[in-house]
Amino acid sequence: MDLEQLKSFVGRVWDESIIERLTAYVRIPNKSPLFDPQWERNGHMEKAVQLMAEWCRAQPLPGARIEVRRLPGKTPLLWVEVPGELPGCVLLYGHLDKQPEFTGWLPGLGPWEPVIRDGRLYGRGAADDGYAVFSSLTALAALKAQKIRLPRCVVLIEACEESGSVDLPAHLAALGDAIGEPSLVVCLDAESGDYERVWCTTSLRGNLVGTLRVRVLTEGVHSGMATGIAPTPFRILEQLLARIENPITGDLLLDELHVNMPRDRRVQASVAAQVLGSEVAGRLPWVSGVHAVSNDPTELIINSTWRATLAVTGADGLPPVGSAGNVLLPELAVKLSLRLPPTCDAARAAQAVREALEREPPYGAQVSFESEPGSATGGWNAPAFAPWLEESISRASHAIYSQGAVHFGCGGTIPFMGMLGERFPQTQFFITGVLGPHANAHGPNEFLHIEYAKKLTACVSLVLADHAKTLSG
Ligand SMILES: [Zn+2]
Repeated sequence: MDLEQLKSFVGRVWDESIIERLTAYVRIPNKSPLFDPQWERNGHMEKAVQLMAEWCRAQPLPGARIEVRRLPGKTPLLWVEVPGELPGCVLLYGHLDKQPEFTGWLPGLGPWEPVIRDGRLYGRGAADDGYAVFSSLTALAALKAQKIRLPRCVVLIEACEESGSVDLPAHLAALGDAIGEPSLVVCLDAESGDYERVWCTTSLRGNLVGTLRVRVLTEGVHSGMATGIAPTPFRILEQLLARIENPITGDLLLDELHVNMPRDRRVQASVAAQVLGSEVAGRLPWVSGVHAVSNDPTELIINSTWRATLAVTGADGLPPVGSAGNVLLPELAVKLSLRLPPTCDAARAAQAVREALEREPPYGAQVSFESEPGSATGGWNAPAFAPWLEESISRASHAIYSQGAVHFGCGGTIPFMGMLGERFPQTQFFITGVLGPHANAHGPNEFLHIEYAKKLTACVSLVLADHAKTLSG
């Protein structure tokens, strides 16, 4: 393997076509079905998948089969199969659906308006996770260009990840054994702690989303007349939330939401904390004067990767401040988003949360907690690294970034990793990504750090080449 040739191949493809295609992709508002129930009629998803499929067909991958797979009522699946010379197979994964717009984009930036500034491509979906298909195929093409012998490689890009991958099981069933049994999975949808090295994800949290409703009155009433007689739904909501979360510390209170963090993961968290130091908290867009929940970076990493957390992410029934009158509100609903520790049983957690919220409602209020179908998603803890993979990732990081790799947990959820882990217990996982400081996937001002993504593409090539060596002996 000629390292200089690899770097220049990858850099050239990024400069000559990937950046341009990602820019076009940012303009497509192909929100995940959960945020665009009319996605099929709106046609944005179709446009996005066609854009990617067309680019894939133009890549120098002899014999590659590129297919947009469809099932009635389901989001499409982009499937690329690159034949190999060695036995076995590798699966590379990414997704093309996007989070919704959100607010707070800086002047000149917007979710569907691609802007390149200071080496960063701003706009929704380039970093999460549009670049994955481009990176994956370029990593393969770079190896083919150097006549490196590879196993069969399949690239699977789904369009439902941001909705909990609910369409993926049907696609997997339809694929049957077309995937084969991968000895390596590469996933390019994760976080990075900085832009200086490879960050390798060794665990993912699960997710539980649901709506908590509190009904007290059939209609709103003059607050001067009704308060003191009827309890406010807001206060009831506070009491209910305090059953699952300590309102002072943010600790979650149900046993079903806790797991024992394995020792090796603790060690990794403390190494990552040493590398990042105050940047663990410093990467967030703090308002002046506000500090993190702990000043110990290791604790913050553990909190955000191996502990359950609760965020209230939306509300119905609360008028906007500007049009709020003196009214005792009749009812409120809030969207709860819980992150679950990697090895937590999501179904059991969902049941426990529901029971805690619904039992003995204060004042006999009408209370319900409904989680959305498929919204209780388990997390994932990686199997132990095979020695070749750990060495390979470290070597790749040194070769490309001149710094060793760091392993850490990822606070987000990638449902497919859990599905794969269950189906292929022997498989090794290389999970990494470009969601570094301020990249802000899901929020405003999301960007793709172009140089970092180029380098990561080259690292994927190096790891794939090392994997191939294990197959050819
Ligand atoms: Zn993603």
